[in-house]
This record gives sequence, C-alpha cells and structure tokens, in this order.
Amino acid sequence: MILYNTLGNKKMEFIPHTEGKVNMYTCGPTVYHYAHIGNLRTYIMEDVLEKYLRYIGYDVKRVMNITDVGHLSSDADTGEDKMLAGAKREHKSVLEIADFYTKAFFNDCKKLNIKTPDVVEPATHCIPEFIKMIEVLLDKGYAYSSGGNVYFDTSKLDEYYVFGNQTQDDLAVGVRDDVDEDENKRNKTDFVLWFTKSKFDDQELKWESPWGYGYPGWHIECSAISIKHTGEYLDIHCGGVDNAFPHHTNEIAQSEAYIGHKWCPYWFHVTHLLDARGKMSKSKGDFLTVSLLEEKGYNPLVYRMFCLQSHYKKPLTFSYENLDNVTKAYNKLVKKVASLKADGEPNLSDAQPLLDKFKNNMDNDLNTSLGITCLYDVLKAKISDATKLYIIEKFDTVLGLDLINAAKQLNEKPKTEIDTAKIEELIAKRTEARAHKDWATADAIRDELTAMNIIIKDTPNGISWSVKE
Ligand code: AMP
Ligand code: ZN
Repeated sequence: MILYNTLGNKKMEFIPHTEGKVNMYTCGPTVYHYAHIGNLRTYIMEDVLEKYLRYIGYDVKRVMNITDVGHLSSDADTGEDKMLAGAKREHKSVLEIADFYTKAFFNDCKKLNIKTPDVVEPATHCIPEFIKMIEVLLDKGYAYSSGGNVYFDTSKLDEYYVFGNQTQDDLAVGVRDDVDEDENKRNKTDFVLWFTKSKFDDQELKWESPWGYGYPGWHIECSAISIKHTGEYLDIHCGGVDNAFPHHTNEIAQSEAYIGHKWCPYWFHVTHLLDARGKMSKSKGDFLTVSLLEEKGYNPLVYRMFCLQSHYKKPLTFSYENLDNVTKAYNKLVKKVASLKADGEPNLSDAQPLLDKFKNNMDNDLNTSLGITCLYDVLKAKISDATKLYIIEKFDTVLGLDLINAAKQLNEKPKTEIDTAKIEELIAKRTEARAHKDWATADAIRDELTAMNIIIKDTPNGISWSVKE
C-alpha cells in the first residue's frame, strides 16, 4: 500500500517493522468538550485506514490515548489546562468532565461506525510510566529542571524539525493564543515534560514525583502510552494535521531520545475540516457536533460518506447543501442495495476484477472517493445479485456505511398503504377552497397532505400528486 508520509513529505510504500503486523497509534481526544465534526473527520479517516489495513490482511494493534490532563490552551505549553477550563465552565470536577466527554466521544464514534481502538488509555492512568520516561531523559541528558518544571532540551538533538517543511502558519500553532513565552526554557522550542509550577490557575489533578507535586506535559503522554502498548517500534502514527507541529515533532524527539533509535517511520495526517470561517475548532464555541446533525435530521453515516467522498489530504469544507446531496446519494445507494436478491452463491471469479479495482484505489494513498465509486461499479455490473451483495458487504467492512443493514431495514419497513380515495377527496376540497379564495383552508389541506407524505403539484391540466421518496 502507498501512503502519503509526512515524514519525508511524499507518498511511500507502507512496510511495517514485523511482516504481517501493524502497530498503529492515534492521538485521542482532549475530553473537555464534545468532539466536533472536524475532529471526527480525522477519526473517520483513521478508522478507514485501520479497517483497510485489516482488509488487506494485516494483524493490526491500534492504541489511542485519552487526553484528560496536561493539554494547555496553547500547544506551546502555556496557558490554562483545557480540562480545568472545561470543569470551570460546567462547575464540575475535572474527572467528571473527563468521564462525561469520553463517553460522549465513543457514543459519537459508534454512530459514525468508528471502531473502538484495541487499547484506549487515559493519560491519568499512566503517571508512573511518564515519570519513568522523564527520569531516563534526565539521566541521558536530554532534559533539565528549571523554575520547578522539567523540560526537554531540543538543542541536544541533531534534527528537531523532522517534518521539515513547516510553513510559518504551522510554526505559529506552537505559540498561538497570545500567551507569553515561558522564561524557564533554555531554547524556544524546548517543551515541558513535568509541571510543578504554572503562572496560570493551578491544576486540580496532581501527583507526587521526584520533581515535586505536579502533572505531566501533553506530549509525553502519547510517547509513553504508545511505548507502553506497542514497544520500541511503532509502524504508523495518526492525527489531524495540526498535531504535526509541535505535538508529533515533540513526541518523536522524546521517544527517540528515550529508546535510543528511530521510533516510527510513517506519519498519517488528516487535513482539516473547514467551515465558512476557516478551521473548525472547539475554542470557537459554536462548533458542529454529531448530535446537532442528528437534531437536524441527518443520519451520522451520511456525514461519514461525506468525508469518504473527499481525499483525506485535501481540505474539506462543510456545508448543509453538500450534506443534503450526500443524503440523497446515500438513500439511493441503500435503495439499490435493498433491491438486490440474495439468490444463490456468489460467483467469485466475477467478483475478482471488482475487488481488484477497489484494492488498487485504496492502495493508492487510501483513495476513498474512488473506493465509493467502486460501489456504483458493482451495482452496474452484469453479475448476479448474490455476487453484488458479496462484494458490497466486503467493501463495507472498510467503508463502514452500514449498507447491508440499512437495506435490510428498508426492506423490512412496512409499506404504508396509500389511501387514494382520501387523497383525491382532500385535493378536491382544496380546489374548492381555492375557488372560494379560502387560502387558510387550502393551506391547511396542503399541510395535511404533506404530513401523509404526498406532494401535490399545480399543472395546466389540474392537480397532480405523488408520494415523496
Ligand atoms: P483534540 O480533541 O483537540 O485533541 O483533537 C482531536 C483530533 O482532532 C486531533 O487529531 C486533531 O488534530 C484533530 N482536529 C482538530 N481540529 C480539526 C479539524 N478542524 N478537522 C480535522 N481534524 C481536526
Ligand atoms: Zn498525541
């Protein structure tokens, strides 16, 4: 499989460290608020990657952290802890907030058909692992204490900016949110491994450590949790593109300094979901969530299909108009699948060229939009329905659109009887009301018909009606 690798900034063949096995790590959510649909774009595309790696035969172990401590309002380790800010906002404890939003996150994932990773580890469960790693970094001379905190010394590295091509905008991420530079740092790019002092409001959650009562920095979480569960060789690390710098850059610095050799050769970054104002972000307040889409009547899997129709490296702009179009496409797809008859055994040699085409597309840097086009190819192909259903079920283990199930439900839905006589009687009454200029009655009858799923049209030959799809 070919994947775009941020480490090297080009497409490369994906070859894991141990044949047939993939260790995969995903930066999990910071659980101080609901995930917005931008965060979920990243998790959807990572889910497709994981499922595709399994589809082509890899034994995948996927690990995700839950950031419930240490992620400050600026990724450059200054500002208030996001969890503390969330707790204050809702007048609850940090642990209550973490528990509530972790559950909400996995609830959203379930609705979007995102598989729960094999290991999910909250940062607060791994304090001894963080302390051990920091002790080793201090022993090896990669870290120093200053002003009560422990910092990673980036000047000790041969190369710090491993992703190479950061634009000024990317670099600005590290110092955004108008917070002052930390004067305890020896170098501008140094970052905190352990805090005991912050000029911002103090942490609610703190632990004893060799350097005093305090809490871990955000970056150490992912290095330590990954190494705890996948050892010294990680195959692929995922996240949204904003994580590349400084978070992933710092993860690489401290992991490689700790283990003493290269750590993870493939970095998979998903480009942001945008809205009319730019990047969707939790700090903007009025962001879109899965629940909000549901309240507006959208099926969460339509949002998944919306994401899959675009390449993960391309910026994707959200609009309701686009989502409406995808809703139509999704419903049509389900209807077509529902019309297939499971008659007999699939013909595997008929299936092979279609399976090959899907694999070629997905092997080419996870081209999910062409992967979806393959679904339409299957529906159009001159092969038996049983073969079509066999292929669609296979593709859907990767695409996760729940097509077979949705089609089954559609077929089981009792067809509502259409009461033609009643409809025609109402239309006649409406025509009469209109003739008497009784617009209120005419409108009320139209509403009644709409509620019955009947659409009426005024045509030159009188009124015509149809049942809404
Ligand atoms: P957070 O909960 O803020 O730690 O972010 C969770 C994940 O969502 C990270 O991998 C981020 O890089 C990613 N992310 C944040 N904003 C967006 C966005 N607008 N579009 C896509 N991914 C995003
Ligand atoms: Zn991370």
